[in-house]
Amino acid sequence: MKQYLQHKVFACISECADELGLETYVIGGFVRDNILQRKEPKDIDIVCVGSGIDLAKKVAHKLHGKPSVQVFKNFGTAMVRHEDIELEFVGARKESYRKESRKPTVENGTLEDDQNRRDFTINTLAICLNKDRYGELIDPFGGLKDLENGIIKTPLEPNITYSDDPLRMMRAIRFATQLDFTIEKSSMDALKQNAKRLSIISQERIVDELNKIIGSKTPAKGFKLLFNTELLHEFFPEFVALHGVDVINGKKHKDNFYHTLEVLENLSVHSNDLWLRWAALLHDIAKPDTKRFEKGHGWTFHGHEFIGAKMVPKIFKRLKLPLNDKMKFVQKLVLLHLRPIVLSKDIVSDSAIRRLLFDAGEDLESLMLLCEADITSKNEQKVKRYLNNFKVVRQKLKDIEERDQIRNWQPPITGELIMKTFNLKPSKIVGDLKNQIREAILDGLIPNEYDKAYTFMLEKAKELGLHKAVK
Ligand code: ATP
Repeated sequence: MKQYLQHKVFACISECADELGLETYVIGGFVRDNILQRKEPKDIDIVCVGSGIDLAKKVAHKLHGKPSVQVFKNFGTAMVRHEDIELEFVGARKESYRKESRKPTVENGTLEDDQNRRDFTINTLAICLNKDRYGELIDPFGGLKDLENGIIKTPLEPNITYSDDPLRMMRAIRFATQLDFTIEKSSMDALKQNAKRLSIISQERIVDELNKIIGSKTPAKGFKLLFNTELLHEFFPEFVALHGVDVINGKKHKDNFYHTLEVLENLSVHSNDLWLRWAALLHDIAKPDTKRFEKGHGWTFHGHEFIGAKMVPKIFKRLKLPLNDKMKFVQKLVLLHLRPIVLSKDIVSDSAIRRLLFDAGEDLESLMLLCEADITSKNEQKVKRYLNNFKVVRQKLKDIEERDQIRNWQPPITGELIMKTFNLKPSKIVGDLKNQIREAILDGLIPNEYDKAYTFMLEKAKELGLHKAVK
Protein backbone atom coordinates (compact mmCIF):
# COMPACT_ATOMS: atom_id res chain seq x y z
CA MET A 1 0.00 0.00 0.00
CA LYS A 2 3.01 2.26 0.50
CA GLN A 3 3.21 3.02 -3.22
CA TYR A 4 0.15 5.24 -2.82
CA LEU A 5 1.74 7.33 -0.14
CA GLN A 6 4.56 8.81 -2.17
CA HIS A 7 3.39 12.38 -1.96
CA LYS A 8 5.48 14.44 0.45
CA VAL A 9 2.40 15.56 2.41
CA PHE A 10 2.10 12.04 3.83
CA ALA A 11 5.62 12.08 5.28
CA CYS A 12 4.78 15.43 6.85
CA ILE A 13 1.44 14.24 8.30
CA SER A 14 3.17 11.12 9.62
CA GLU A 15 5.79 13.16 11.46
CA CYS A 16 3.23 15.57 12.92
CA ALA A 17 0.94 12.72 14.01
CA ASP A 18 3.80 11.01 15.86
CA GLU A 19 4.90 14.25 17.48
CA LEU A 20 1.36 14.77 18.79
CA GLY A 21 1.01 11.10 19.66
CA LEU A 22 -2.16 10.80 17.51
CA GLU A 23 -3.20 7.60 15.77
CA THR A 24 -3.71 8.85 12.19
CA TYR A 25 -5.06 7.42 8.93
CA VAL A 26 -5.76 8.43 5.36
CA ILE A 27 -9.26 7.22 4.60
CA GLY A 28 -12.14 7.12 2.12
CA GLY A 29 -12.07 8.32 -1.48
CA PHE A 30 -8.30 8.75 -1.68
CA VAL A 31 -7.62 5.13 -0.72
CA ARG A 32 -10.41 3.84 -2.96
CA ASP A 33 -9.38 5.79 -6.05
CA ASN A 34 -5.73 4.95 -5.59
CA ILE A 35 -6.37 1.25 -5.41
CA LEU A 36 -8.54 1.58 -8.52
CA GLN A 37 -5.87 3.82 -10.06
CA ARG A 38 -8.80 5.96 -11.02
CA LYS A 39 -7.67 9.54 -10.87
CA GLU A 40 -5.11 11.80 -9.28
CA PRO A 41 -6.90 12.64 -6.05
CA LYS A 42 -7.18 16.29 -5.15
CA ASP A 43 -9.09 15.76 -1.89
CA ILE A 44 -7.41 13.75 0.81
CA ASP A 45 -9.32 12.84 3.98
CA ILE A 46 -7.26 12.35 7.12
CA VAL A 47 -8.79 10.97 10.28
CA CYS A 48 -7.04 10.85 13.65
CA VAL A 49 -8.10 9.57 17.03
CA GLY A 50 -8.11 12.93 18.82
CA SER A 51 -8.24 16.52 17.60
CA GLY A 52 -8.17 16.80 13.80
CA ILE A 53 -7.85 20.57 14.15
CA ASP A 54 -4.64 20.33 16.22
CA LEU A 55 -3.14 17.95 13.70
CA ALA A 56 -4.14 20.22 10.81
CA LYS A 57 -2.47 23.22 12.47
CA LYS A 58 0.75 21.33 13.01
CA VAL A 59 0.79 20.07 9.42
CA ALA A 60 0.11 23.58 8.08
CA HIS A 61 2.93 24.93 10.22
CA LYS A 62 5.37 22.35 8.93
CA LEU A 63 4.32 22.80 5.29
CA HIS A 64 3.89 26.58 5.15
CA GLY A 65 5.67 27.98 8.21
CA LYS A 66 2.42 29.09 9.83
CA PRO A 67 -0.45 27.20 11.42
CA SER A 68 -3.17 28.76 9.28
CA VAL A 69 -6.01 26.37 8.56
CA GLN A 70 -9.63 26.76 7.58
CA VAL A 71 -11.72 25.44 10.44
CA PHE A 72 -15.31 24.27 9.98
CA LYS A 73 -16.47 24.37 13.58
CA ASN A 74 -19.84 22.74 12.92
CA PHE A 75 -18.19 19.67 11.47
CA GLY A 76 -15.10 19.65 13.70
CA THR A 77 -12.96 19.57 10.59
CA ALA A 78 -10.04 21.65 9.36
CA MET A 79 -8.74 22.09 5.87
CA VAL A 80 -5.20 22.71 4.70
CA ARG A 81 -4.55 23.59 1.10
CA HIS A 82 -1.19 22.54 -0.28
CA GLU A 83 -0.43 23.23 -3.94
CA ASP A 84 -3.46 21.77 -5.74
CA ILE A 85 -4.35 19.39 -2.93
CA GLU A 86 -6.96 19.87 -0.23
CA LEU A 87 -6.22 18.01 2.98
CA GLU A 88 -9.25 17.59 5.21
CA PHE A 89 -8.58 16.66 8.84
CA VAL A 90 -11.16 15.29 11.24
CA GLY A 91 -11.15 13.55 14.60
CA ALA A 92 -12.53 9.99 14.53
CA ARG A 93 -16.19 10.14 15.45
CA LYS A 94 -19.17 8.08 16.39
CA GLU A 95 -22.57 9.07 15.04
CA SER A 96 -26.14 8.43 16.01
CA TYR A 97 -29.16 9.53 14.03
CA ARG A 98 -32.68 10.75 14.63
CA LYS A 99 -35.51 10.00 12.24
CA GLU A 100 -36.30 13.49 10.99
CA SER A 101 -32.83 14.65 10.06
CA ARG A 102 -29.74 13.48 8.24
CA LYS A 103 -27.63 15.44 10.74
CA PRO A 104 -26.34 13.00 13.33
CA THR A 105 -25.41 13.54 16.94
CA VAL A 106 -21.65 13.26 16.99
CA GLU A 107 -19.23 12.22 19.72
CA ASN A 108 -15.56 11.35 19.73
CA GLY A 109 -14.83 7.77 18.80
CA THR A 110 -12.30 5.20 17.68
CA LEU A 111 -11.18 4.44 14.14
CA GLU A 112 -13.63 1.54 14.17
CA ASP A 113 -16.51 3.87 15.12
CA ASP A 114 -15.46 6.14 12.31
CA GLN A 115 -15.37 3.35 9.76
CA ASN A 116 -18.79 2.16 10.93
CA ARG A 117 -20.37 5.52 10.10
CA ARG A 118 -19.16 5.53 6.49
CA ASP A 119 -21.44 4.80 3.59
CA PHE A 120 -19.91 1.92 1.65
CA THR A 121 -17.32 -0.74 2.37
CA ILE A 122 -15.17 0.59 -0.48
CA ASN A 123 -15.14 3.97 1.29
CA THR A 124 -14.16 2.61 4.70
CA LEU A 125 -10.61 1.62 3.74
CA ALA A 126 -8.03 3.36 5.93
CA ILE A 127 -4.22 3.36 5.74
CA CYS A 128 -2.22 4.08 8.87
CA LEU A 129 0.24 6.97 8.67
CA ASN A 130 2.05 6.57 12.00
CA LYS A 131 5.67 5.61 11.49
CA ASP A 132 5.61 2.21 13.19
CA ARG A 133 2.52 1.07 11.22
CA TYR A 134 3.03 3.20 8.09
CA GLY A 135 1.10 1.80 5.12
CA GLU A 136 -0.94 -0.74 7.10
CA LEU A 137 -4.41 -1.18 5.58
CA ILE A 138 -7.33 -1.33 8.01
CA ASP A 139 -10.16 -3.09 6.26
CA PRO A 140 -12.70 -4.46 8.75
CA PHE A 141 -15.54 -4.83 6.20
CA GLY A 142 -13.77 -6.49 3.27
CA GLY A 143 -13.75 -3.25 1.27
CA LEU A 144 -10.71 -4.34 -0.74
CA LYS A 145 -12.48 -7.49 -1.90
CA ASP A 146 -15.55 -5.43 -2.82
CA LEU A 147 -13.35 -3.07 -4.81
CA GLU A 148 -11.88 -6.02 -6.70
CA ASN A 149 -15.31 -7.54 -7.34
CA GLY A 150 -16.99 -4.23 -8.14
CA ILE A 151 -19.58 -4.33 -5.36
CA ILE A 152 -21.39 -1.48 -3.61
CA LYS A 153 -22.26 -2.66 -0.12
CA THR A 154 -22.90 -0.84 3.16
CA PRO A 155 -20.70 -1.64 6.17
CA LEU A 156 -23.70 -2.00 8.49
CA GLU A 157 -27.30 -3.11 7.88
CA PRO A 158 -28.33 -1.35 4.63
CA ASN A 159 -31.78 -0.33 5.87
CA ILE A 160 -30.24 1.53 8.78
CA THR A 161 -27.42 3.05 6.72
CA TYR A 162 -29.83 4.46 4.11
CA SER A 163 -32.55 5.48 6.51
CA ASP A 164 -30.02 7.34 8.73
CA ASP A 165 -28.75 9.43 5.84
CA PRO A 166 -30.87 9.02 2.70
CA LEU A 167 -28.34 10.94 0.59
CA ARG A 168 -26.37 7.70 0.67
CA MET A 169 -29.01 6.22 -1.65
CA MET A 170 -28.09 8.74 -4.33
CA ARG A 171 -24.42 8.15 -3.60
CA ALA A 172 -24.83 4.37 -3.98
CA ILE A 173 -26.21 4.84 -7.48
CA ARG A 174 -23.65 7.52 -8.30
CA PHE A 175 -20.72 5.26 -7.34
CA ALA A 176 -22.27 2.25 -9.11
CA THR A 177 -22.52 4.40 -12.26
CA GLN A 178 -19.14 6.13 -12.07
CA LEU A 179 -17.23 2.95 -11.21
CA ASP A 180 -19.48 0.59 -13.17
CA PHE A 181 -20.08 -1.47 -10.01
CA THR A 182 -23.03 -3.61 -8.95
CA ILE A 183 -25.19 -2.68 -5.97
CA GLU A 184 -25.59 -5.80 -3.86
CA LYS A 185 -29.06 -7.29 -3.57
CA SER A 186 -29.83 -6.36 0.05
CA SER A 187 -28.77 -2.79 -0.67
CA MET A 188 -31.02 -2.67 -3.75
CA ASP A 189 -33.94 -3.88 -1.62
CA ALA A 190 -33.16 -1.25 1.02
CA LEU A 191 -33.02 1.49 -1.63
CA LYS A 192 -36.51 0.56 -2.80
CA GLN A 193 -37.76 0.38 0.75
CA ASN A 194 -36.31 3.75 1.76
CA ALA A 195 -36.84 5.72 -1.45
CA LYS A 196 -39.44 7.97 0.18
CA ARG A 197 -36.88 9.02 2.82
CA LEU A 198 -35.21 11.09 0.11
CA SER A 199 -37.74 13.78 1.06
CA ILE A 200 -35.53 14.93 3.95
CA ILE A 201 -32.60 15.64 1.61
CA SER A 202 -32.16 19.07 0.11
CA GLN A 203 -32.75 19.41 -3.61
CA GLU A 204 -29.24 20.87 -4.06
CA ARG A 205 -27.60 17.74 -2.69
CA ILE A 206 -29.81 15.46 -4.77
CA VAL A 207 -29.06 17.33 -7.97
CA ASP A 208 -25.36 17.42 -7.17
CA GLU A 209 -25.32 13.61 -7.16
CA LEU A 210 -27.60 13.51 -10.21
CA ASN A 211 -25.21 15.72 -12.15
CA LYS A 212 -22.34 13.39 -11.26
CA ILE A 213 -24.39 10.51 -12.65
CA ILE A 214 -25.18 12.48 -15.82
CA GLY A 215 -21.52 13.44 -16.18
CA SER A 216 -20.27 9.85 -15.96
CA LYS A 217 -19.26 7.63 -18.86
CA THR A 218 -22.46 5.56 -18.84
CA PRO A 219 -25.18 7.79 -17.39
CA ALA A 220 -28.03 5.54 -18.57
CA LYS A 221 -26.97 2.92 -16.04
CA GLY A 222 -27.58 5.41 -13.24
CA PHE A 223 -31.01 6.40 -14.57
CA LYS A 224 -32.13 2.79 -14.84
CA LEU A 225 -31.05 2.22 -11.23
CA LEU A 226 -32.82 5.40 -10.13
CA PHE A 227 -35.96 4.24 -11.91
CA ASN A 228 -35.86 0.65 -10.66
CA THR A 229 -35.37 1.77 -7.05
CA GLU A 230 -38.07 4.45 -7.52
CA LEU A 231 -35.74 7.16 -6.28
CA LEU A 232 -36.31 8.93 -9.57
CA HIS A 233 -40.04 9.11 -8.80
CA GLU A 234 -39.21 11.22 -5.75
CA PHE A 235 -37.63 14.12 -7.58
CA PHE A 236 -38.12 13.79 -11.34
CA PRO A 237 -41.70 12.65 -12.11
CA GLU A 238 -41.61 14.18 -15.61
CA PHE A 239 -38.83 11.80 -16.54
CA VAL A 240 -40.63 8.82 -15.04
CA ALA A 241 -43.68 9.75 -17.15
CA LEU A 242 -41.64 9.01 -20.28
CA HIS A 243 -41.70 5.34 -19.31
CA GLY A 244 -44.11 2.90 -20.91
CA VAL A 245 -45.73 2.01 -24.20
CA ASP A 246 -49.37 2.40 -25.22
CA VAL A 247 -51.02 0.18 -27.81
CA ILE A 248 -54.11 1.17 -29.80
CA ASN A 249 -55.37 -0.86 -32.75
CA GLY A 250 -52.21 -2.93 -32.52
CA LYS A 251 -50.06 0.17 -32.99
CA LYS A 252 -47.54 1.13 -30.32
CA HIS A 253 -45.11 3.99 -29.91
CA LYS A 254 -41.58 3.62 -28.66
CA ASP A 255 -40.80 3.76 -24.96
CA ASN A 256 -39.56 7.30 -24.59
CA PHE A 257 -37.79 6.59 -21.31
CA TYR A 258 -35.42 4.06 -22.88
CA HIS A 259 -35.23 6.06 -26.09
CA THR A 260 -34.10 9.15 -24.15
CA LEU A 261 -31.49 7.15 -22.28
CA GLU A 262 -30.17 5.79 -25.56
CA VAL A 263 -29.92 9.33 -26.90
CA LEU A 264 -28.04 10.35 -23.75
CA GLU A 265 -25.62 7.43 -24.13
CA ASN A 266 -25.07 8.15 -27.85
CA LEU A 267 -24.40 11.78 -27.06
CA SER A 268 -22.08 10.98 -24.17
CA VAL A 269 -19.68 9.26 -26.57
CA HIS A 270 -19.19 12.61 -28.31
CA SER A 271 -19.62 15.22 -25.59
CA ASN A 272 -18.88 15.68 -21.89
CA ASP A 273 -20.85 18.93 -21.77
CA LEU A 274 -23.22 18.54 -18.80
CA TRP A 275 -25.77 20.95 -20.27
CA LEU A 276 -25.83 19.29 -23.66
CA ARG A 277 -26.44 16.04 -21.78
CA TRP A 278 -29.31 17.76 -19.98
CA ALA A 279 -30.71 18.80 -23.36
CA ALA A 280 -30.61 15.14 -24.42
CA LEU A 281 -32.45 14.18 -21.23
CA LEU A 282 -35.17 16.76 -21.79
CA HIS A 283 -35.53 16.79 -25.58
CA ASP A 284 -38.68 14.61 -25.55
CA ILE A 285 -39.87 15.53 -22.07
CA ALA A 286 -43.25 16.77 -23.34
CA LYS A 287 -44.04 13.61 -25.28
CA PRO A 288 -46.32 12.20 -22.57
CA ASP A 289 -48.31 15.47 -22.50
CA THR A 290 -48.66 15.75 -26.26
CA LYS A 291 -49.27 12.10 -27.08
CA ARG A 292 -52.35 11.48 -29.27
CA PHE A 293 -53.60 8.58 -31.31
CA GLU A 294 -54.87 9.96 -34.60
CA LYS A 295 -56.81 7.86 -37.06
CA GLY A 296 -54.78 7.37 -40.20
CA HIS A 297 -51.61 8.69 -38.59
CA GLY A 298 -51.08 6.51 -35.53
CA TRP A 299 -49.22 8.03 -32.59
CA THR A 300 -48.30 11.71 -32.79
CA PHE A 301 -46.55 14.09 -30.42
CA HIS A 302 -47.36 17.41 -32.11
CA GLY A 303 -45.70 20.42 -30.58
CA HIS A 304 -43.70 18.43 -28.03
CA GLU A 305 -40.66 20.60 -28.79
CA PHE A 306 -42.57 23.82 -27.90
CA ILE A 307 -44.22 22.42 -24.78
CA GLY A 308 -40.93 20.76 -23.81
CA ALA A 309 -39.04 24.05 -24.09
CA LYS A 310 -41.66 25.64 -21.84
CA MET A 311 -41.21 22.89 -19.27
CA VAL A 312 -37.43 23.41 -19.03
CA PRO A 313 -37.45 26.47 -16.70
CA LYS A 314 -40.00 24.84 -14.42
CA ILE A 315 -37.97 21.66 -14.15
CA PHE A 316 -34.72 23.59 -13.64
CA LYS A 317 -36.32 25.69 -10.93
CA ARG A 318 -37.70 22.74 -9.01
CA LEU A 319 -34.51 20.71 -9.29
CA LYS A 320 -32.48 23.78 -8.22
CA LEU A 321 -30.47 23.82 -11.41
CA PRO A 322 -29.14 27.23 -12.48
CA LEU A 323 -31.69 29.57 -14.06
CA ASN A 324 -29.11 31.25 -16.26
CA ASP A 325 -27.66 30.92 -19.75
CA LYS A 326 -27.18 27.16 -19.17
CA MET A 327 -30.93 26.80 -18.78
CA LYS A 328 -31.49 28.97 -21.87
CA PHE A 329 -29.12 26.74 -23.83
CA VAL A 330 -31.03 23.59 -22.83
CA GLN A 331 -34.32 25.27 -23.64
CA LYS A 332 -33.09 26.36 -27.05
CA LEU A 333 -31.91 22.87 -27.96
CA VAL A 334 -35.16 21.27 -26.85
CA LEU A 335 -37.06 23.78 -28.99
CA LEU A 336 -34.89 23.28 -32.09
CA HIS A 337 -34.27 19.54 -31.94
CA LEU A 338 -36.64 18.69 -34.80
CA ARG A 339 -35.44 21.41 -37.14
CA PRO A 340 -32.31 19.94 -38.77
CA ILE A 341 -33.98 16.74 -40.00
CA VAL A 342 -36.46 18.73 -42.09
CA LEU A 343 -33.52 20.27 -43.93
CA SER A 344 -32.41 16.89 -45.26
CA LYS A 345 -35.27 16.82 -47.79
CA ASP A 346 -34.19 17.04 -51.42
CA ILE A 347 -35.80 20.37 -52.06
CA VAL A 348 -35.21 22.79 -49.26
CA SER A 349 -34.98 26.53 -49.62
CA ASP A 350 -31.88 28.51 -48.74
CA SER A 351 -34.05 30.63 -46.50
CA ALA A 352 -34.97 27.61 -44.33
CA ILE A 353 -31.28 26.89 -43.90
CA ARG A 354 -30.48 30.54 -43.13
CA ARG A 355 -33.25 30.54 -40.57
CA LEU A 356 -31.80 27.58 -38.68
CA LEU A 357 -28.32 29.11 -38.83
CA PHE A 358 -29.76 32.27 -37.32
CA ASP A 359 -31.89 30.52 -34.69
CA ALA A 360 -29.18 28.09 -33.56
CA GLY A 361 -26.36 30.64 -33.79
CA GLU A 362 -23.31 29.53 -31.87
CA ASP A 363 -25.07 26.39 -30.59
CA LEU A 364 -25.40 24.81 -34.03
CA GLU A 365 -22.75 22.15 -33.44
CA SER A 366 -24.38 21.12 -30.14
CA LEU A 367 -27.73 20.90 -31.90
CA MET A 368 -26.30 18.70 -34.64
CA LEU A 369 -24.71 16.41 -32.04
CA LEU A 370 -28.06 16.11 -30.26
CA CYS A 371 -29.89 15.32 -33.52
CA GLU A 372 -27.35 12.69 -34.52
CA ALA A 373 -27.62 11.12 -31.05
CA ASP A 374 -31.42 11.10 -31.46
CA ILE A 375 -31.21 8.33 -34.07
CA THR A 376 -31.88 5.20 -32.05
CA SER A 377 -33.34 2.73 -34.53
CA LYS A 378 -32.43 -0.96 -34.15
CA ASN A 379 -32.27 -1.15 -37.94
CA GLU A 380 -28.67 -0.46 -38.91
CA GLN A 381 -29.55 0.46 -42.49
CA LYS A 382 -31.95 3.09 -41.19
CA VAL A 383 -29.36 4.51 -38.80
CA LYS A 384 -26.86 4.74 -41.64
CA ARG A 385 -29.37 6.46 -43.89
CA TYR A 386 -30.39 8.98 -41.22
CA LEU A 387 -26.79 9.74 -40.30
CA ASN A 388 -26.13 10.31 -43.95
CA ASN A 389 -29.06 12.72 -44.11
CA PHE A 390 -27.43 14.74 -41.34
CA LYS A 391 -24.19 14.78 -43.29
CA VAL A 392 -26.14 16.38 -46.12
CA VAL A 393 -27.69 18.88 -43.70
CA ARG A 394 -24.27 19.73 -42.25
CA GLN A 395 -22.96 20.35 -45.78
CA LYS A 396 -25.90 22.58 -46.71
CA LEU A 397 -25.47 24.56 -43.49
CA LYS A 398 -21.76 24.92 -44.15
CA ASP A 399 -22.29 26.11 -47.74
CA ILE A 400 -24.89 28.72 -46.83
CA GLU A 401 -22.92 29.90 -43.80
CA GLU A 402 -19.82 30.36 -45.94
CA ARG A 403 -21.83 32.41 -48.38
CA ASP A 404 -24.09 34.44 -46.08
CA GLN A 405 -22.43 34.33 -42.65
CA ILE A 406 -25.63 34.16 -40.70
CA ARG A 407 -24.55 32.52 -37.43
CA ASN A 408 -23.22 35.59 -35.69
CA TRP A 409 -25.17 37.91 -37.84
CA GLN A 410 -26.99 41.03 -36.72
CA PRO A 411 -29.44 42.67 -39.14
CA PRO A 412 -28.05 45.89 -40.67
CA ILE A 413 -30.88 48.03 -39.27
CA THR A 414 -30.94 48.41 -35.50
CA GLY A 415 -33.82 49.39 -33.26
CA GLU A 416 -31.93 52.60 -32.42
CA LEU A 417 -31.87 53.59 -36.06
CA ILE A 418 -35.57 52.89 -36.47
CA MET A 419 -36.39 55.04 -33.42
CA LYS A 420 -34.17 57.87 -34.62
CA THR A 421 -35.49 57.78 -38.19
CA PHE A 422 -39.15 57.94 -37.21
CA ASN A 423 -38.78 59.77 -33.92
CA LEU A 424 -40.18 56.85 -31.94
CA LYS A 425 -39.86 55.84 -28.31
CA PRO A 426 -39.06 52.18 -27.52
CA SER A 427 -42.30 50.39 -28.40
CA LYS A 428 -43.82 47.37 -30.05
CA ILE A 429 -43.88 49.00 -33.46
CA VAL A 430 -40.06 49.35 -33.38
CA GLY A 431 -39.72 45.62 -32.68
CA ASP A 432 -42.22 44.74 -35.42
CA LEU A 433 -40.41 46.78 -37.99
CA LYS A 434 -37.05 45.35 -36.99
CA ASN A 435 -38.43 41.80 -37.25
CA GLN A 436 -39.89 42.46 -40.68
CA ILE A 437 -36.51 43.60 -41.97
CA ARG A 438 -34.74 40.59 -40.41
CA GLU A 439 -37.31 38.16 -41.82
CA ALA A 440 -37.09 39.72 -45.29
CA ILE A 441 -33.32 39.18 -45.31
CA LEU A 442 -33.57 35.62 -43.96
CA ASP A 443 -36.24 34.88 -46.60
CA GLY A 444 -33.99 36.27 -49.31
CA LEU A 445 -36.54 38.97 -50.27
CA ILE A 446 -33.85 41.60 -49.94
CA PRO A 447 -30.07 41.20 -49.80
CA ASN A 448 -28.16 41.54 -46.55
CA GLU A 449 -27.07 45.12 -47.29
CA TYR A 450 -27.60 48.37 -45.44
CA ASP A 451 -28.95 50.45 -48.35
CA LYS A 452 -31.45 47.81 -49.49
CA ALA A 453 -32.57 47.19 -45.92
CA TYR A 454 -32.96 50.95 -45.34
CA THR A 455 -35.16 51.33 -48.42
CA PHE A 456 -37.21 48.32 -47.31
CA MET A 457 -37.61 49.89 -43.87
CA LEU A 458 -38.95 53.12 -45.43
CA GLU A 459 -41.47 51.15 -47.51
CA LYS A 460 -42.72 49.12 -44.58
CA ALA A 461 -42.89 52.23 -42.39
CA LYS A 462 -45.01 53.97 -44.97
CA GLU A 463 -47.46 51.07 -44.94
CA LEU A 464 -47.69 51.53 -41.18
CA GLY A 465 -48.32 55.25 -41.59
CA LEU A 466 -44.98 56.29 -40.09
CA HIS A 467 -43.18 59.42 -41.27
CA LYS A 468 -39.50 60.22 -41.26
CA ALA A 469 -38.52 62.63 -38.54
CA VAL A 470 -37.66 66.10 -39.81
CA LYS A 471 -34.01 66.96 -39.11
P1 ATP B 1 -15.79 11.83 -4.62
O1 ATP B 1 -14.62 12.71 -4.35
O2 ATP B 1 -15.77 11.11 -5.92
O3 ATP B 1 -17.12 12.46 -4.34
P2 ATP B 1 -15.41 10.64 -2.02
O4 ATP B 1 -15.61 9.23 -1.55
O5 ATP B 1 -14.10 11.26 -1.73
O6 ATP B 1 -15.71 10.61 -3.57
P3 ATP B 1 -16.63 12.64 -0.40
O7 ATP B 1 -18.03 13.16 -0.50
O8 ATP B 1 -15.49 13.57 -0.50
O9 ATP B 1 -16.58 11.50 -1.48
O10 ATP B 1 -16.53 11.86 0.97
C1 ATP B 1 -15.33 11.41 1.56
C2 ATP B 1 -15.56 10.16 2.40
O11 ATP B 1 -16.49 10.47 3.45
C3 ATP B 1 -16.21 9.02 1.63
O12 ATP B 1 -15.27 8.21 0.99
C4 ATP B 1 -16.97 8.30 2.71
O13 ATP B 1 -16.11 7.45 3.44
C5 ATP B 1 -17.42 9.40 3.63
N1 ATP B 1 -18.76 9.91 3.33
C6 ATP B 1 -19.08 10.95 2.54
N2 ATP B 1 -20.40 11.18 2.53
C7 ATP B 1 -20.93 10.26 3.34
C8 ATP B 1 -22.26 9.95 3.79
N3 ATP B 1 -23.30 10.66 3.35
N4 ATP B 1 -22.43 8.96 4.67
C9 ATP B 1 -21.39 8.27 5.12
N5 ATP B 1 -20.13 8.47 4.74
C10 ATP B 1 -19.89 9.45 3.87
